[in-house]
Amino acid sequence: MFKVLHYKEKCLGCAYCVEAAPALFQVNDSDGKVDLIGSKEKNGIQSLSVNDALLDEAKEAAELCPAKIIILQIK
Ligand code: SF4
Repeated sequence: MFKVLHYKEKCLGCAYCVEAAPALFQVNDSDGKVDLIGSKEKNGIQSLSVNDALLDEAKEAAELCPAKIIILQIK
């Protein structure tokens, strides 16, 4: 398992992360930003523990994010 952090407050809503990792991110039509699916949110930061099977997708999303607000914590 690894952890994904998404600093949603700074999200641009470009959805590059959704294209890279549709199992992890989805557009929220109500605010125009992206949500980390199934995450907990605190102080504008969404966090989620994720199975290693999604690591490559998560890495691609983090690399593509122009705001650099997708952080992976890999142990
Ligand atoms: S790629 Fe980054 S800025 Fe763009 S929607 Fe995803 S998290 Fe937000």
